[in-house]
Amino acid sequence: MRTLADLAHSGRRVLVRVDLNVPMTTDAHGARTITDDGRIRACIPTIDVLRAAGCRVVLVAHLGRPKGEPNPAYSLAPVAVRLSELLGVPVPLVEDITGAKAQAAVANMHDGDVILLENIRFDARETSKTAADRESLAAELAALADAFVSDGFGVVHREQASVTDVAHLLPSAPGLLVRGESEVFTRILNDPQRPLVVLLGGSKVSDKLGVIGNLLERVDALLIGGGMAFTFLAGQGFEVGDSLLESDQIPATQEFMRRAQQRGIPLILPSDVVIADDFSADAHVRTVPVGEIPPGWRGLDIGPQTVEAFQSRIDTAGTVVWNGPMGVFEMAPFAAGTEAIARAIAASSAFSVVGGGDSAAAIRLLGIPENDFDHISTGGGASLEFLEGKRLPGLTALEEGTEQ
Ligand code: AMP
Repeated sequence: MRTLADLAHSGRRVLVRVDLNVPMTTDAHGARTITDDGRIRACIPTIDVLRAAGCRVVLVAHLGRPKGEPNPAYSLAPVAVRLSELLGVPVPLVEDITGAKAQAAVANMHDGDVILLENIRFDARETSKTAADRESLAAELAALADAFVSDGFGVVHREQASVTDVAHLLPSAPGLLVRGESEVFTRILNDPQRPLVVLLGGSKVSDKLGVIGNLLERVDALLIGGGMAFTFLAGQGFEVGDSLLESDQIPATQEFMRRAQQRGIPLILPSDVVIADDFSADAHVRTVPVGEIPPGWRGLDIGPQTVEAFQSRIDTAGTVVWNGPMGVFEMAPFAAGTEAIARAIAASSAFSVVGGGDSAAAIRLLGIPENDFDHISTGGGASLEFLEGKRLPGLTALEEGTEQ
């Protein structure tokens, strides 16, 4: 596979797929504010390398799910402003993506310049299931550049025009972010510092079946919290009240628990939970053993005994991988479990990896220094698919590449 350095030559136009899909709030007048710029900051190193080499950098990215047509609510305009602040150079936003304006903007670039194409998902061909659609958009993107760098780790598990198809049309290489993330997850799967302790949370078991299945062959302990724990607890015969429950997944959780037992791998579930009589920050709240959730109440966080049990596993781990909050951390009464676990991981001497999405957001929301973790992934779905052992299409496309 080519490297970034192979492509970074002065005067080259380099198309860079980045992940700028940042969370935003919108005020009453429709003005949008970025609430977490982690993903924007994560793509700066690759852009810096290309600019330092004298490349002309054409960024392509998506924001949200705009349904294949232009929609100002999903414009990358606020992102262009933040990028420009972080890079210290103007970053013009090109409205028509691959149209005449884009072609003119690229033609007018100087070495070291950066432009950002408008939300690529304004074009329905980006996510089309029909290869010919994607290929036609990829050809238009490829016509804007001499080389392609794939640095959007958050989308490398997607078969999309600006992720996979364009990699077949231009000399291509992974950027620093994609390379770094891939190395971390490859090491976790193949050669982790042991004991390898994996902590899963979040809302859905069904999202994590593949990961649990693959990891059961590799981990030294699996800790399960968050809403997904209740389907496991139901599988053990506990009444879970109004807690999150995916009844159709109960047999799958029972099978996982059987396999873990057979292999002698501790699969540790909450022993106590913080329950509430409503899904709201001002509900009545109690902490109870898992066997004592009354009807009408729901578990919204792990309890202190569970925190302690998880913490002792984290303290003795060689590698800790964490994906998914332990509770509804967005509401203060149910944030303690997630915060305690995040702090335990931050304080541990293990190689610590935080899966993307909500766990990374939780860390930032709680104000825990990001440097206390060895790796905070920018890709929730991509990191999970990596841990499932799947081949990610965006990486396969780079391996197959083009010998142009
Ligand atoms: P996911 O998208 O699967 O990573 O789940 C993240 C979401 O899970 C967060 O928004 C949390 O609020 C939510 N969550 C965590 N624990 C619980 C719980 N016990 N009950 C309901 N939702 C939860």
